[in-house]
Amino acid sequence: MALTVASCQSVKGVDWSQLGTILLDMDGTLLDLEFDNHFWGTVIPGEWGRQRGLDVATSQQTLAPLFAEQQGRLNWYCLDFWGKTLDLDIPHIKSAYAHGIRWRPQAERFMQHLRASHLDVVMITNAHPLTLQMKAERLPLARWFDVMISSHHYDTPKETPAFWNRLMAERPFDPGRTLFIDDSEYVLDAAETYGIAHLITLRQPDSTVPPRQTTRYPAIHHFDEIIDGLPAVD
Ligand SMILES: [Mg+2]
Repeated sequence: MALTVASCQSVKGVDWSQLGTILLDMDGTLLDLEFDNHFWGTVIPGEWGRQRGLDVATSQQTLAPLFAEQQGRLNWYCLDFWGKTLDLDIPHIKSAYAHGIRWRPQAERFMQHLRASHLDVVMITNAHPLTLQMKAERLPLARWFDVMISSHHYDTPKETPAFWNRLMAERPFDPGRTLFIDDSEYVLDAAETYGIAHLITLRQPDSTVPPRQTTRYPAIHHFDEIIDGLPAVD
């Protein structure tokens, strides 16, 4: 085991020399989930309601079951689906809020260390390709990764076994020598089922929401907790 897990599910460092691949989620892991939570929780209901003469609270209540129905499915992340369902130009609305896209604390520094390492550095995200593109234009994401993959290219989200089979076919990795970091424990469940040996989640995906006190997987608050053992950078 590269990870030593305490009873409180904190991470006691990572033995990087035992790993060949790191898989990284984007939203809530490297980037502050506040942007997405605010956009889908407030901006979109607000815009949808504005066109129908409803206040934000009423719109949020009306749309909540619709959102809940799609959770864990690819549609949840699909701008086309929501654009059609809500009759809104989602990319256009999103671009007006792009200034809210930001790194989580220490995340970019962590990426610098990974880039200097021997690891294959792979982003796997459920974000729609347009969302990924918008975020990669706002922040220099691509420079830190060997490859960035949206699950939309596989037509199935990270929560499903099919995603992992497709990833293995496209970007082979040794599950026993792979670390996957993702703020979604449902996604980690799928990765664990697939056999990925090393899994870490995040205590505070959204900087405006208090940190999680209990997690089902080893959790970090900030990346300095696992940075030891990676090459030094300037
Ligand atoms: Mg995430």
